[in-house]
Amino acid sequence: MSGFQVTINDLMKKATVFHGHLCPGIAIGVLAAKYALEHGFERSLDEEIVAVVETDNCSVDALQILLGTTFGKGNLVHLDYGKSNYSFYNRKTQKGVRLALKQEISEYKNLSRDEKIQKLLELEPEGVFDIREIEFDPPGLAPINESVPCSICDEFTMDSRMMNYQGKFMCIPCYKEFRSKNP
Ligand SMILES: [Zn+2]
Ligand SMILES: [Zn+2]
Repeated sequence: MSGFQVTINDLMKKATVFHGHLCPGIAIGVLAAKYALEHGFERSLDEEIVAVVETDNCSVDALQILLGTTFGKGNLVHLDYGKSNYSFYNRKTQKGVRLALKQEISEYKNLSRDEKIQKLLELEPEGVFDIREIEFDPPGLAPINESVPCSICDEFTMDSRMMNYQGKFMCIPCYKEFRSKNP
């Protein structure tokens, strides 16, 4: 599938403004986003693109701003595995791709921050990630839930997050507190 060429400098600028500082993590996220943008994963206004990320480090901010896969829209899913792996799904084309940071990139540890950034930006995404197509199997669309008041603190809480303890409906923090006092 043909994509379009985007310049790494433009992407870096946008991502750095959004993120707040320049760092190797942003460079990694920008390279992942560049690959996606050039391979049929257009910036997502709604939930056309889903990103499943296995890290919550700086790199993810580049994906949020450049691919429109955001926490608030629910098309950014975090798996807390502590790995720099990124899977993208395109609901329009039913394609999926997974980018996994190459081991030699993780081993840049003895370089300075600036050297790391420079070295990364000299590479193409293919030199930074092991990339493979994956089955189109994205997480479901972000659910829209009713909110109901918690029976203890009275704060409105998404229905799907309410805990039911012996017929009493409570929000998660109230439930935790209640159970710690009533084990
Ligand atoms: Zn950073
Ligand atoms: Zn509560």
